[in-house]
Amino acid sequence: MSLRGVGLGEVPEETARLARAVFPKGCLAMRLRDDLQVVIADADFAGLYAVRGRPAVSPARLAVVSVLQFTEGLTDRQAAHAVRSRLDWKYALGLELADTGFDFSVLSEFRARLAASDTGQRVFDALLDAAQRAGLLKSGGRQRTDSTHVLAVTRDLSRLEFVVETLRTALNAVADTCGQWLAEVARPEWFDRYSARPEETRFPSRWAARAAHGDQVGEDGFALWEAVSGPHAPPGLRGLPALEVMRQVWVQQFQVVDGQVRWREMKNVPPGLLRLRTPHETDARTGAKNDTAWSGYKAHLTETCEPGTPHLVTNVVTTPAPVPDLSVTERIHTLLADRGLLPDVHLADAGYVDAEQVHLAWRDHRVELVGPLARDTNRQTTQSAGFDNSRFTVDWDNRHVACPNGRTSTTWRETTSHRGTPVVRAKFAARDCTACPARQDCTSSPNGRYITLRPRAEHEILQRLRPQQDTPQWRKRYNVRAGVEGTIAQAVNALDMRRSRYRGLAKTHLQNLFTGAAINLIRIDAWLTGQPLAPTRITSFAALRPAG
Ligand code: SF4
Repeated sequence: MSLRGVGLGEVPEETARLARAVFPKGCLAMRLRDDLQVVIADADFAGLYAVRGRPAVSPARLAVVSVLQFTEGLTDRQAAHAVRSRLDWKYALGLELADTGFDFSVLSEFRARLAASDTGQRVFDALLDAAQRAGLLKSGGRQRTDSTHVLAVTRDLSRLEFVVETLRTALNAVADTCGQWLAEVARPEWFDRYSARPEETRFPSRWAARAAHGDQVGEDGFALWEAVSGPHAPPGLRGLPALEVMRQVWVQQFQVVDGQVRWREMKNVPPGLLRLRTPHETDARTGAKNDTAWSGYKAHLTETCEPGTPHLVTNVVTTPAPVPDLSVTERIHTLLADRGLLPDVHLADAGYVDAEQVHLAWRDHRVELVGPLARDTNRQTTQSAGFDNSRFTVDWDNRHVACPNGRTSTTWRETTSHRGTPVVRAKFAARDCTACPARQDCTSSPNGRYITLRPRAEHEILQRLRPQQDTPQWRKRYNVRAGVEGTIAQAVNALDMRRSRYRGLAKTHLQNLFTGAAINLIRIDAWLTGQPLAPTRITSFAALRPAG
């Protein structure tokens, strides 16, 4: 397909006349065009289309349709119907009244192009650019971030259902390609085991019987793999995607012990970030946060939170479910920097914040990352008994530590912790500690006190910030972060972000970008029309809380 370069174009005269007659005060879709003046052109998507071929529906129009679709939570069919039938949408898209729009499948095809080329960000950015031109968004100030879980579109499977479904999917793929050959090599019992979709209720409930069934499935899978790898197999079978998925699953789920195929114990399967959970969506992973476990992805939303401007989503990151928040912090800052939207202060919960991230945010971006830093985990701090690290004075230049009893450490070793992070370990001489009158308050080790420090910049951050976060001033400043939970609630409850509409990380991220753009459009429209922010709702009981 090729581009015609039509873009949004001017609003046709008759469309404008009727729209203004029917909506004399305008509406969200019309203000998107008139007041916000979102600049999005077909040229922004030029790389997604061929130079020659059948003319494509204008991608600029499809981008606007996608954002409007998400503001109203419409399916593709409903959105295509709205293009054909609604006056306000025709106005926003610059269409003639008689324009019949396009088939709903065009939207899916458009998303596939965006996801494959990571161009969805352009649609999200178009709203932010318009907000910047309108003076509603600036760099600097405060922003805040939180994450929420996004459920994969594919159904959750038990572990036994998973391996059976994986083999069933592989068998179906082979049957579609070389049915005659498979009919000759398939074992007769496979037809009973793998013809129907696996359901937990059909499997044995006792663990030993389930394990034996798992072993059998493993053996069947290896037999299929051997057959497709054999000299008499039709060429190219091993390259089928379903067989490649099965190969990966079998490596993760089975092992051969003394010549017997065995279903691995859970402690021997790969960690959640690597482990496949369904053959139908290979990006989805199982994650857990506090008491919530889910299969799918995690969405991180960052928004502005300055008074006097609408609170707009400035960044969206989507990761597999088990990726910790901490590993996203730096990426958020880099993405904001690339678009000239870095804040001065970034408020985030404890999951995003540690001394290293505070240090990197300031060093690389001049962003003050504010959030609770974890306490020391050594015995002296956790039991509030004895001298914690803050009682020791570190001389970084001369590489030694002075203790509260005036002694100086005798060794200084730069190494890594069990998590692989750089640390410094200093040790005091056993003879000093044995003779020390304060030993009861310091160490029970007969070898003398050990002290573990983060690298200098991080250590100094910890020493400076940890005492601050216990003060009412710090808590008052940090309380602003809680407002981002309202944005997460809007994304989940009003715009249905909790469940992915599409398969795979790239398309789920696209959905999250469209959701972020839809939130921004709704908020900018409310701001332009003077609709006040809804107050935070509290329950009748919570309203009875005594003041102070
Ligand atoms: S026990 Fe050792 S390290 Fe601790 S205060 Fe006494 S001399 Fe210093």
